[in-house]
Amino acid sequence: MKGTMMQFPLTLTPLFERAGKLFPNVEIVSRRPDNSTHRYTYDDMYHRARALADTLQQSGVRPGDRVAALMWNHSAHLEVYFAVPIIGGVLHTLNLRLHPDELAFIINHAEDHVLIVDDVLLPVFEKLKDRVKFQRVIVVPFSGNPVPNGYEDYEMLLGQSNATPKYVELHEDDAAGMCYTSGTTGKPKGVVYSHRAIVLHSYSISLPDNFGISRTDTVLPAMSMFHANAWGLPYAAVMNGAKIVLPGPNLQPELILDLLSAEQVTLTGAVPTVWLGVLQCLEREPKRWSLPKGMRIIIAGSAAPETLFRRFDKFGVRMIHAWGMTETAPIGTVCTLGPEMQSCSEDARYELRTRQGVPSPFVEIRAIGDSGEVPWDGQAPGELELRGPFIAGSYYNLPEEGHKWSTDGWFRTGDVVTIDPAGYVKITDRTKDLIKSGGEWISSVDVENALVAHPAVAEAAVVAVPHPKWQERPLALIVLKNGTTVSSEELRTFLVSRFAKWQLPDDFVYLPELPHTSTGKLLKSELRQRYKTWSWQSEKSEL
Ligand code: AMP
Repeated sequence: MKGTMMQFPLTLTPLFERAGKLFPNVEIVSRRPDNSTHRYTYDDMYHRARALADTLQQSGVRPGDRVAALMWNHSAHLEVYFAVPIIGGVLHTLNLRLHPDELAFIINHAEDHVLIVDDVLLPVFEKLKDRVKFQRVIVVPFSGNPVPNGYEDYEMLLGQSNATPKYVELHEDDAAGMCYTSGTTGKPKGVVYSHRAIVLHSYSISLPDNFGISRTDTVLPAMSMFHANAWGLPYAAVMNGAKIVLPGPNLQPELILDLLSAEQVTLTGAVPTVWLGVLQCLEREPKRWSLPKGMRIIIAGSAAPETLFRRFDKFGVRMIHAWGMTETAPIGTVCTLGPEMQSCSEDARYELRTRQGVPSPFVEIRAIGDSGEVPWDGQAPGELELRGPFIAGSYYNLPEEGHKWSTDGWFRTGDVVTIDPAGYVKITDRTKDLIKSGGEWISSVDVENALVAHPAVAEAAVVAVPHPKWQERPLALIVLKNGTTVSSEELRTFLVSRFAKWQLPDDFVYLPELPHTSTGKLLKSELRQRYKTWSWQSEKSEL
């Protein structure tokens, strides 16, 4: 039909150009490894990103070429976030916590051409450099020390550049970035983000019933910029012209609180483990930090226990639960309450807030049970499947993983959920973490969340362990808060009002710490392996 709108591709270039023009004086603050602060403006970021884009182009980076980054959260990483995609390159963010073997595998699988690496991370690179082939390795002098001999100096290259990259004509489906899943089992799998996906995701998380990002915000991404685009926060913050605070490598709870308070951050986010630590500091010294009233904390990555919402509320801080995956760009659902829910009882509102929320616009969801799609009744469990413009359509160069998509094209998440009539998703488990006891399912997540509400418990994991009578029974692994004790009997009594007797862990094991993945999730596969021959003290478990 004639007389319709222009064909204008959704790419990062106009978003970046607009931010450079409209928000030149907005600040970007980074914390260096020695905890000193670096400040500059969008104008600086804009010109330096253009200079980097020009340098990369001059050195032969062509559309579609992969440029890898091994970097902490700081301003140069933000420059790389834009410099690579605006010349058609594909930014491959590397998870600096992975084992060198795994990193080498990922770099080779993605066929990365160039590496940009923080000087403080050179020891990570040096462990694998003989196994990978980069055409160039550019080192960012993040520590303030001179770049070691034999490496190219990021600052020197930017200084020599004339900062006039040639913008190539991009299509919105062209690749802009890629990230490998930090799966707890199996080979890492590459997810490629198109320009269109990143642009639409930035719009999506900016919406008021999502994270609600505006130019009046100060945004601190406390999740890693190497993992799933730091949940899209850097791109969305730049799109909106929000002040950005980047915490560098030191993520101890006190240091996060120092930054939140000094820069008066209004929106931040990280996995539950980070917020548990921050909360303990706040509760220990409630007067030490002054957080802006109504500050929003996005919590995602694993299930957020109810106790966190209640305890943060006491400090006037609003915690918002979200769910996502590397494959979903990553935010798929967000939990903000509708007006009709404001009149629910306080307990009901807290229960609602612990759900993973409703799908973002354009994200379609369904849950598939044993006999097909389950009703949205808040009861029937099924595996969550989704589709939408920022959901991966396949993995990079891994046709054997095609089974992760249904025959009609939906992405299978591996998360077991219920969906209520209002569309609120509640995750009960990963398919592989569910515990099947005597034919009945037990949600490890529900039991863990109840356990961390006990004042003596710092962290808890509940895993399935083979049992001679019931096939599997739940074993609880507990980390206590410093200086506290609690017996297994007390913990069982604490849980008893919330669960059927057969759902309670049979045994409790106390550990100094629990294993985590490189992105802070409980590494339950390792715990299952460690305890698979556990000899039950209570073989008499009754169903
Ligand atoms: P990743 O791709 O490493 O970001 O991991 C994605 C997985 O993290 C999801 O499939 C979920 O199992 C888990 N996850 C993410 N957010 C949440 C959440 N809010 N509650 C429970 N699990 C979550």
